[in-house]
Parts: sequence; structure tokens; C-alpha cells
Amino acid sequence: MFESILGQKKIKKIISNQVKSGKIAHAYIFVGQDGVGKRLTAVEFAKILNCNVDDFIKTDAGTCGKCISCKKIEKNIHPDLHFIDFARQAELEEECLEKQRTLKIETIRYMQKEVATKIHEGKWKIFIIEPAERMNAAAANSLLKTLEEPPENTIIILIAKHKETIPQTILSRVQTLFFQPLGQNEISSWLMLNCSVDAAKARDIAELSEGSLENANKLVGKNEKEEFSLWLKFKTRNFYISDILELSKNIAAAGALECVDAMIAEAKKDFRMYPQRTAPALDLLSASRVLLLKNVNAMTVLDNLFFDLSDLKKMSGLL
Ligand SMILES: [Zn+2]
Repeated sequence: MFESILGQKKIKKIISNQVKSGKIAHAYIFVGQDGVGKRLTAVEFAKILNCNVDDFIKTDAGTCGKCISCKKIEKNIHPDLHFIDFARQAELEEECLEKQRTLKIETIRYMQKEVATKIHEGKWKIFIIEPAERMNAAAANSLLKTLEEPPENTIIILIAKHKETIPQTILSRVQTLFFQPLGQNEISSWLMLNCSVDAAKARDIAELSEGSLENANKLVGKNEKEEFSLWLKFKTRNFYISDILELSKNIAAAGALECVDAMIAEAKKDFRMYPQRTAPALDLLSASRVLLLKNVNAMTVLDNLFFDLSDLKKMSGLL
């Protein structure tokens, strides 16, 4: 089962066993970074449970892929598969998607109305709540009520990057499954197969992708010298003195300020998740930005910045 999902052997096994034995939890939380297959797994799970060809559920394939239910889930038009996410919330509130910052109680209440209605045409109603770590307190409290009295033939799957902001009361009522970063070999083979990338480039991209297929996809087709995220490079690679001097020269020529700005933007994303270890790097980047704005020689600024970032990495092990 779950053949279309890359990696995640352990999770596939856990869910497959549950499906085959009929011992399915009524609620789950899938935790892991972006691009490791959480949402795809949730959708495939919904497909397996609702496939109209009963025999398939007991087989390794899990789904027939051809019946009306499988087709509808594939096209995202199955009336018993519900996504409770920012897109749905934006639609409900008639706002733009970019404005959505937290999942609100109104959105959870909308879900609860759907939970209470009769099943439309499938065997299971599945609700996928994402990003669960962005539910505000009122929304989480409201969801708790549903989890306390699990409705029949309904599965709720929370999807989250981390579970720090999710109340323990919720976590104690759901089965937690951790999605690991994908292996470099898994990603590079996938890239060679699906993106017509040669072995050397696939290996390079896999190394920089931090175990995320989403990152890998973004990196495909980009010119390594100019566009690969430098921030990512500093996080994942060790640089020699000669590498740094060469890098500074290339970047000084291509536009130092744009490059530092791009690194700051990337670092800020990490800062939200790992403030303590990212703060010193952000300080270095901001200081370099000030120097560049004062027209200090770009190569000197970049040399210093890159050496400092490398030292930081050596000292702390991580950026
Ligand atoms: Zn089917």
C-alpha cells in the first residue's frame, strides 16, 4: 500500500497493518517538515478506505485506482474527503489566501457541521486539518470536543510541521506519526526518474534539499551557481577557504546585496522554528547588509560573512 508515496516505510507499514486488521484510529496527527509526504499519505489513506472494490483493501495495492471513488479522490472532488485548511478558510471568510495566518474556530465549526451530516457516498468521512500547528486556542478547544466524542466512520487527520503549539489534550487523543526527512538516495532516484535530471545533478540537489521533496522540486532547473539558495548551502555543506573565496568573487560580481537579502529571507523562515540557533547567523547577515549599504567593498564583506558563517557552523554544529 502507499506505493505512490516516496520513503516513509515505517509509517506505510503502521497504517497498512491497521487497515488490514480493521483497527484504525479515529484521529491522527502526521508530524514532519514540508515535502515529506504527509498530505499525500493522508489522501492515499482516504482513497484506500473508500475504494469501491472491497478486495483491494486487503491487498498490497490497497486501492484499485479505477473506481469512481478512487477517481473522485484523485481529482479532489470526493464529497466525503474534506480539507480544513487555509484555502477552505479563505473561501469561507471570502478573504484572500495570503491573509490566512491561523486556523480559526469558525473554520473548525464549519468542519463540525460536516462531521454531523450523513456520509455522502463513501464508507468513511475523512477530515484533513492543516496546518494544525496554526490552530488558535479557541479552534483547538473546539476541535477537542469532536475528538472527545469521535463520530462513527469518521477519521480526522491533523497535519503539522511540529507539535509544540498543539495542546496536550489534543495530542493525547490522536495517534502521532512522525514523518522523517527523506533519504538523499530516495530523492536523487526520484529526481532522475521524474525530472530527467542526470545522476550528478540529482545527487547535488538531494544533498541541498534537506530531505524534502518540495525543496528538491524547487531546486530542479535552477542554475546551481547563481540561484541555489546560499543559505541552504551554508546549512548543509562544509566550505573550504578556496570555496569561500571563489563564492565571494562570483557573488560580488552578480549582486551582493540581493544575495544577502535572499539569505536573510531564508534565515528568517528558519528563525521562526529555531530562534536560538538562527539568531547569531541573522545578526551576521544584517551586519553585512549594513556594510554593503555603506558601499564597503562587496568582496571583503562577503569573505568575512562567509568565513563567519562557516565558523558559526563549526562551533554550533548547526545554523
Ligand atoms: Zn477504487
